[in-house]
Amino acid sequence: MARYTGAVCRLCRREGKKLFLKGERCYSDKCSVGIRAYAPGQHGQGRKKSSEYGLQLRAKQTARRFYGVQENQFHHYFEIAERKTGITGDNLLKILESRLDNVVYRVGFASSRAEARQLVGHGHFEVNGHRVDIASYLLKAGDVITVCEKARGLDKIKAVVEANSARPVPTWIDVNRDELSAKIISLPNRDQIDAPVEEQLIVEFYSR
Ligand code: SF4
Repeated sequence: MARYTGAVCRLCRREGKKLFLKGERCYSDKCSVGIRAYAPGQHGQGRKKSSEYGLQLRAKQTARRFYGVQENQFHHYFEIAERKTGITGDNLLKILESRLDNVVYRVGFASSRAEARQLVGHGHFEVNGHRVDIASYLLKAGDVITVCEKARGLDKIKAVVEANSARPVPTWIDVNRDELSAKIISLPNRDQIDAPVEEQLIVEFYSR
């Protein structure tokens, strides 16, 4: 599957907001959004006014980049969200939040969603006692994720858990750092999701 391999800070600068794609650096004063607060490229400091379509497109790209999801998969999530009862935008965010890579990042078992995807891909996590190496695996209420036995001794895992221990964990997940496990209490409501996403604009984008 196609994967973006360019400089990730450009993505934040393009969206004009912090997307927290780089781990520790995002929380430091080295963050490029603060240093160069304009879009990248030759015309980055030029015209700022956007059309309605432009705003909707940017909202969709922001969400996609924030969660590290490819276009096709993002559209697929939108279609699922549309079919569910309730507000489509809320449903979409709930699906994105329930991805295994997102939860691994949210609980501080990885410094970024990209790192979480890598650790999951290497088979370092179990869901309800079974190894899962698919980053897009969708978790549900009651699911328990744990760092698998073999990975517990890895210096990388120890270092990353230690480095992220102060990062706040969302209220819908119960994390046990000593046991290296986390339980989904319930899937989050919109007000429990801390994401720079304007989901209504995304709904408008796909409803054109
Ligand atoms: Fe780079 Fe992180 Fe700042 Fe984004 S939030 S510009 S990824 S340092």
